[in-house]
Amino acid sequence: EDGDDLQALVECMHFAAIKHTDQRRKDPMKTPYINHPIGVARILSKEAGIKNLHILQAALLHDTVEDTDTSFDEIEKQFGAEVRHIVAEVTDDKSLPKMERKRKQIEHAPHISREAKLVKLADKLYNLRDLKRVAPESWTPERVQDYFHWAAKVVAGLRGTNKTMEDSLDKIFKEKGVLV
Ligand code: NDP
Ligand code: ZN
Repeated sequence: EDGDDLQALVECMHFAAIKHTDQRRKDPMKTPYINHPIGVARILSKEAGIKNLHILQAALLHDTVEDTDTSFDEIEKQFGAEVRHIVAEVTDDKSLPKMERKRKQIEHAPHISREAKLVKLADKLYNLRDLKRVAPESWTPERVQDYFHWAAKVVAGLRGTNKTMEDSLDKIFKEKGVLV
């Protein structure tokens, strides 16, 4: 029933909000972190036209395991195996050094499921818009530009998944002079 889906979506929003309570974004105004997962789910819903509950739930939860004490088992228990698997596909292995994790994102992108590709496209779109708006205080312009170049390489492996998001990303890369 539709009401059950709505309840499950709100439950998920609540779970993510609690998990990210103490976190802030890297922008100078230290925006509450939860704005990001909600914004990623919104890109999927409003811009990409995604109506699938599990994809929207995975978007809301996509940084919980990477950045909080949340476990995959906890996600499966509360939201089911499908959501767990999408979140797992978009979660970096934190035992690896940061540069290695960034390289692995480029390498893995073409091999993940369509659902995970949708979440990653929306995540990259949100973060690039955020960076375009205002860079983190400690970042040099070179570091910002490097981030756009790295993101373009990840996005290359996600293509053929959603035209609206890919067109929006291409527009940003073009504005930043990044060849795709
Ligand atoms: P990241 O490059 O990982 O920081 C960007 C990430 O932070 C985003 O992917 C996003 O991830 C999150 N984020 C939070 N707030 C914002 C925001 N306002 N705008 C955009 N993204 C935001 O930085 P790290 O400090 O973790 O460093 C990663 C690697 O970069 C390291 O290996 C480091 O050595 C290297 N580095 C590179 C430099 C360069 O000049 N190229 C300089 C210094 C370090 P999420 O979606 O998960 O929130
Ligand atoms: Zn994210």
